[in-house]
Amino acid sequence: MREKSHCPYCGSVLAERVVERSLRKCCDTCHEVLYDNPVPAVCAVVADHGDRILLVRRGVPPKVGFWCLPGGFMELDESPEEAALRELREETGVTGRIVRLLGLRATPSRIYRSVLLAGYLVLPQGGEAAPGSDALEVGWFTVEGLPEIAFESHRTFIRQFSTAYTRTSDLRGPGDLPPGGP
Ligand SMILES: [Zn+2]
Repeated sequence: MREKSHCPYCGSVLAERVVERSLRKCCDTCHEVLYDNPVPAVCAVVADHGDRILLVRRGVPPKVGFWCLPGGFMELDESPEEAALRELREETGVTGRIVRLLGLRATPSRIYRSVLLAGYLVLPQGGEAAPGSDALEVGWFTVEGLPEIAFESHRTFIRQFSTAYTRTSDLRGPGDLPPGGP
């Protein structure tokens, strides 16, 4: 994580001291404390009409070459749901709709120290699955035939999906790709 050296409120050089049981950056001029917090990110379990899951093979660190769920960091001007659908579109070319939140996981990160990851269940509505700029490959996999998944948090969301839904046909509505669709 890039360390802040100056106070964002007044520009003074920051000191480090224990505040509320943790070592934190503090400003001795304006007495502000800079708290480090997890960074929000999102990912999508996209299930097709055969209950296969859409995965992306990573082209960027960490874990280049491993498969994971499509996802990424939230932008400032979007909701977590919008972020999940945007990342899905950018990384795979697939458009979808959010069915529900599967869960939240706090995961350790080398750069951000902690990432708060929201996992959504998404049904595909269109588009052609093709790798975006950050991906080497995209593919649909059955839960029984999954490749090695890069992140434990993603494995957890897939497990939550496969435990809660034996089939997704009950969830499908107007606009979703029908059984036998592309
Ligand atoms: Zn200050």
